[in-house]
Amino acid sequence: MKREFKNVEYKHIPLFKDVTTDDWNNWKWQMRNAIRDIPTLEKVIKLTDEERDHLSQTLDKFKMAITPYYAALMDKENPDCPVRMMAVPQLRELYVAPSDLSDPLHEDVDSPVSGLTHRYPDRALLMVTRECSMYCRHCTRRRIVGETDTNTGKDQLQKDFEYIRNNPELRDIIISGGDPLVLSDDQIDYILTELRKIDHVEIIRIGSRMPVVLPQRITDNLCQIIKKHHPVYVNTHFNHPKEVTIEAQRACEKLADAGIQLGNQSVLLKGINDCSNIMKGLVHDLLMIRVKPYYIYQCDLSEGISHFRTTISKGIEIIENLRGHTSGMAVPTFVVDAPGGGGKIPVMPDYLISQTEKRVVLRNYEGMISSYEQPDDYHGHNREDCEFCQNEFLWAKDGVAKLLNEGGTLRPRELRREMRTNGDKG
Ligand code: SF4
Repeated sequence: MKREFKNVEYKHIPLFKDVTTDDWNNWKWQMRNAIRDIPTLEKVIKLTDEERDHLSQTLDKFKMAITPYYAALMDKENPDCPVRMMAVPQLRELYVAPSDLSDPLHEDVDSPVSGLTHRYPDRALLMVTRECSMYCRHCTRRRIVGETDTNTGKDQLQKDFEYIRNNPELRDIIISGGDPLVLSDDQIDYILTELRKIDHVEIIRIGSRMPVVLPQRITDNLCQIIKKHHPVYVNTHFNHPKEVTIEAQRACEKLADAGIQLGNQSVLLKGINDCSNIMKGLVHDLLMIRVKPYYIYQCDLSEGISHFRTTISKGIEIIENLRGHTSGMAVPTFVVDAPGGGGKIPVMPDYLISQTEKRVVLRNYEGMISSYEQPDDYHGHNREDCEFCQNEFLWAKDGVAKLLNEGGTLRPRELRREMRTNGDKG
């Protein structure tokens, strides 16, 4: 049955009962009035003595910020409310599991210039701020985000632009943070304008959780600014159907009407969305508000978020329950962002059962097993006559693709056999 999205009700919450509609719909008012302390939070939700004590201990180390809009989505009584779990700090954040890493994705290691991560061949991540409108408890960048609410200064940004300018293979720039949409419209316009001056930058992506936690930020003016710099894509971060409200729908539709394609990157979180049916509800809702489910991330090994982790098998089970059971458009790619800077590795159920040169045996979502006859007369693509194959910028210069294209060997750096041969005792 088609789901009816709802407006967020806030007038019944004592803290917000006198807030005017104009203030409520004003993103700057929402940012100024984010909930940052326990007495204010207790005007929205009930806390037990133990919860209050735990919260107080956690706030000594980590910041809390919850926009009034997102706070109004929380269940007042139930600490297991998914929205509440993503917003209210828990004592378990202070626990560092043996497998935890401070920078699991090696974003700092792969940073040739401050504020910019260059890991993949043709794209780079530009961190323009450390601030967010809300601090998500499962944030993978918690080592930097929210520590100091600072934006990257113009001098530093100029150095980042310089790096991009000097690396012509960079055709895709992801503007990230923190949340880049905490910046003013003018600052966003400046960054987009500077990036657009670089000839080889083809596409720009903005990663923002604003459509989820502060949809009021998506104003007509912001959409007009982004629209000037197309092609620009926005990836957002819905994790649970409860986050899909009329306000969120309006924000996403505004962006879509400005020609901005929207993708969603969920994180698989224990007790929040580790259920195939919750995920199916979410991806259906997302398509209804014109957002394409893009990724489901396995929760990273960042310090202090181990209580949110599920097994990788849980993600595979979710994809098994989506693929074939609902529209292909609704099925995101489940990825593990490999610790140590290995990048995103897609993981999915095995659909390919076996193969010869003549035939491939596959199974579908129903368990039906079919064989696909391979063509006898396929002799491969003629690279000599292909204009794209002559374009060096399109060549894969690393990894298994390079071996396929050019042959050769890919050796682990520490191979005991080679160490022996080289007289290294290691
Ligand atoms: S909005 Fe993104 S960067 Fe900011 S706290 Fe949430 S997950 Fe982290």
